[in-house]
Amino acid sequence: MKLRATVKIKMISTIAVVTVCLGAIAACTVMQMMERTISDMALHHIKTVAEQQEAIIGRIVTDSLSFAEHLGSQQPVIGYLQQPEQKKQRTELLSYIAGLDASNKYQAIYIMDMAGNVLFSTDSSLVGQNYEFRAYFKDALAGKSTMDVVIGGISNKFGYYFASPVKAKSGDIVGVVATKLNEGLIANALHPKGLNIEGDAMLVDKYGVVFQANRPELLFKSLGVLTPEAYRAVEDTKRFSGINIVSLQYDRVAEEIAGLREPKGLVLYNRLHDHDELIGVARIADTQFFIVITEVRQFFAQSAGNMEINIGLLVFMVSIVTVLALILLTTPLLRPLYSLRDTSLRMEKGNFAQQATVETGDEFGDVAKALNATMEQIKKTNGITEGKLWERAADFEKFKLAVESASDHIIITDVDGRILHANKAAEAITGYSHTEMIGSRPSLIVAQMSEEFYRNMWATIKDQRKVFYGEMTNQRKNGALYTAEVHIAPLLTDKGDLCGFVGIERDITAQKNADRAKTDFASVVSHQLRTPLAAISWYVEMLSNEDVGVVNEAQRKYLDRIHAASTRMVDLVGSLLSASHIDMGTPYVEPEPIPLPDIADSVIDELRRFVEKKHMTINRIYDPQLGQVDVDPNMMRVVFQNILSNAIKYTSENGLVTITLKREGENALITVSDTGYGIPADQQSRIFTKFFRADNARKKEPEGNGLGLYITKSIINNAQGTIGFTSEEGKGSEFRIFIPLAGIKKESESKQIPA
Ligand code: ADP
Repeated sequence: MKLRATVKIKMISTIAVVTVCLGAIAACTVMQMMERTISDMALHHIKTVAEQQEAIIGRIVTDSLSFAEHLGSQQPVIGYLQQPEQKKQRTELLSYIAGLDASNKYQAIYIMDMAGNVLFSTDSSLVGQNYEFRAYFKDALAGKSTMDVVIGGISNKFGYYFASPVKAKSGDIVGVVATKLNEGLIANALHPKGLNIEGDAMLVDKYGVVFQANRPELLFKSLGVLTPEAYRAVEDTKRFSGINIVSLQYDRVAEEIAGLREPKGLVLYNRLHDHDELIGVARIADTQFFIVITEVRQFFAQSAGNMEINIGLLVFMVSIVTVLALILLTTPLLRPLYSLRDTSLRMEKGNFAQQATVETGDEFGDVAKALNATMEQIKKTNGITEGKLWERAADFEKFKLAVESASDHIIITDVDGRILHANKAAEAITGYSHTEMIGSRPSLIVAQMSEEFYRNMWATIKDQRKVFYGEMTNQRKNGALYTAEVHIAPLLTDKGDLCGFVGIERDITAQKNADRAKTDFASVVSHQLRTPLAAISWYVEMLSNEDVGVVNEAQRKYLDRIHAASTRMVDLVGSLLSASHIDMGTPYVEPEPIPLPDIADSVIDELRRFVEKKHMTINRIYDPQLGQVDVDPNMMRVVFQNILSNAIKYTSENGLVTITLKREGENALITVSDTGYGIPADQQSRIFTKFFRADNARKKEPEGNGLGLYITKSIINNAQGTIGFTSEEGKGSEFRIFIPLAGIKKESESKQIPA
């Protein structure tokens, strides 16, 4: 439903917005055009109204002018002005004019002589009047048929006058004929069609003064403001009998009228009412009089505004209809999309069985095909992945089984040392359940070890990321202590990042106990052997010294062998005792500052017998800078005895042994090198282990117990020193011992190695 709503609403709203925007733009454009068109139409309309009105009034004027012209050319009129017996002529003229049947049109028809005196008139009140001052008389006398509008001098009423010269056959002007149009004829004609109620229709002279209008209040007012010249000219013609002319305040009207030939529509500002007005003007026939039609412009603006609203509504309606049409049209179009969406949703839930069935043959069809192909691919990949996962799960199970079945205690921790997994052996050895161990730290089972131990352990596994080997005293859940041999290895990711630790422990308590029993046994046996051995040596010595009688050669030979054997036995017992004491604890140490060369010399002196026997040379190089070293003299003696006796023992006759004592930094360095048998490379790693003897040494020197280097290394390590060697079989060996100048520390709990 979400997809449907989103796509459809998006689509429809987009198109609706576009439609409305385009509609609005179209409406604005159309409205602007319409405004212009309406304005043009309005001007055209007002001009047409003026034109039509001119046609009607213009005909009356033209007819009247023609009629005056016609009269001026008629014999009865000419004759009347030329004949002296005017009475007879007058009768003739009267019957002639009556025959013209013009009385309903003209209020008066009258004839003037050249001086402007009215000689004849159908209106007797005019006879005897002089109109020489009238413009129409002057124009007619000048030979021009003319029209004028004036307020009559006698009637004091406004009237339309037409005049024409009367010409004799010779062409000379003999007088003037004039007509006064029937009152109301033009006023009745001034009713323009199509003018709205606010509009006005006026007849004006060339100065813009209104002499006929649809509303009486407009009469004898000027459209614009009269210039002083215009005002004077109006007064001169006495047309308006001295009426004070007030302005209707139209702008520019006089200028527009002055040069007018053709009818025209214009917009003028009316100051009096403070609005624009539409003005239609037309010249009446060829006269100096004009028709002026006015309309309030707002009326048209209102019509335009109404039209704009209508167009706006129309656009809105069109938009609504478009949107509805879109909803109807897009629904079937979007149907394939819904189908694709349903398929995708099924895919999302892991259902790849049902395929998309869009066969529209268009882009939707292409998408459906691609979707189905993707589903097939995913199915295949899933199959492969599932297979691999199954295999991996099986491998993992095997791995887990191996860890679980291991007899050694195995725990896996995170980087902070929190236990993540512990196997069955861990449960059996510690007594804690799996649940109790998970989440806790190994300190749960570790009895307190020295600070040094922990520092060393963390430095190895965390900083150096190497395997740590060590012995620990742990505590079971029931409180019992046990000794464990531990291997702790860091767990590293492919990228080499630390992700945890695996700890493997073996309970070696039983083994330790057995070792201790052996050591104790060796110690007891050694002690017990010392007294009888001492007795043997003592009695052999007594016999050799002939304290109890003379000893012959053969007896002496056997006594020497017994002495040598008992001496070896004493050495062995001594070594066994030293080793067992080392195994049981730290040897008793009594350090004192002593010069190392003294001990070395003393030991070499002891060994002189063997050196001479084998014709060997002992080379001594002593550094005078070495000074005294704070060590236990007995311990150092054991060290020198072992190293030097080995060098002599495992070197053939005439060989060379070199002893160097020197200072190297904060250490004393003891080097003993020989040109002897050397140690086979494949056996060098075992040289410091208890009872070990190399094959070549064993062959050449059957005497030996393999304890000397073991004891030496223990003493050196106890003194915080180090011992190492380099050796090549058949060439010789070199042993190097470093002892801190500070010397061996005194340990109160230690036991002394018996001499
Ligand atoms: P032992 O000398 O009684 O056999 P050690 O513990 O002193 O016991 O020496 C162990 C073994 O180391 C010797 O048996 C011998 O194989 C080898 N070894 C020690 N020192 C030398 C040396 N200087 N030259 C050759 N082999 C030596």
